[in-house]
Amino acid sequence: MSALLEVSGVSKSFDSFKAIDNLSFSVNEPELRAIIGPNGAGKTTFMDLVTGKIRPDTGSIRYGELSRDLTKMSEAQIARAGIGRKFQKPTVFEDQTVGENLTMALAAPRSPFAVLFRRVDARAAAREAAARVGLEDRMGTPAGILSHGQKQWLEIGMLLAQEPRLLLVDEPAAGMTSAERERTTEMLVEAAKTRAVVVIEHDMEFVRRLNCRVTVLHEGHALAEGSLDHVCADPRVIDVYLGR
Ligand code: ADP
Repeated sequence: MSALLEVSGVSKSFDSFKAIDNLSFSVNEPELRAIIGPNGAGKTTFMDLVTGKIRPDTGSIRYGELSRDLTKMSEAQIARAGIGRKFQKPTVFEDQTVGENLTMALAAPRSPFAVLFRRVDARAAAREAAARVGLEDRMGTPAGILSHGQKQWLEIGMLLAQEPRLLLVDEPAAGMTSAERERTTEMLVEAAKTRAVVVIEHDMEFVRRLNCRVTVLHEGHALAEGSLDHVCADPRVIDVYLGR
């Protein structure tokens, strides 16, 4: 296990407001990590910084064995380097089937399978990708008629098909039934056995089930880190959440 992502002294202001304030933290490979924090803590801004959507004012974000500085790379370069991002709302091609969605993801330029793709059995590869997210029985189903949870899984499956080294996932459990949440937990735990997965989540029960290291973000910096029980017992975290 070694650090895959190393965020050091990163700050980002919007006008005079510091959304990220001297943030330092690292993610190992493999690792499952949850980031929690109240609204406005800087969670989305953090993901925007890592994926190159926005640039920090100061600090570095280093990635991989070559310690490449992501702050000097374009969004496309960062994606090709193996960083995938799942936004909160599912974005799948609704008029295409599950199989077609996965086939497209497998053939995407940033997929390590893209070069080999024409030589492998495309259907078998798509079925395998579907099985990772429990959709192997839905290969012929148009994505548009899947449940909200199944759409989320399909998109996770499409991202996993591209074999990211680091997968950032924004509130995957939002709007899911409790059975879907449980299945999603299993999926993320499994995915994080071979890669780094960072999950932003508000649902504490979901975070508890992930059973992973938690970073509490507050006013743009890491306020506490450790198991969920450890951070929840931290008086600074209690202050932030209960506003004492
Ligand atoms: P979270 O995802 O934890 O709710 P955000 O990262 O979305 O927090 O936002 C952190 C703070 O930065 C918020 O106060 C938000 O209003 C502010 N912010 C985020 N993006 C912008 C922007 N493009 N322009 C101005 N303020 C922004």
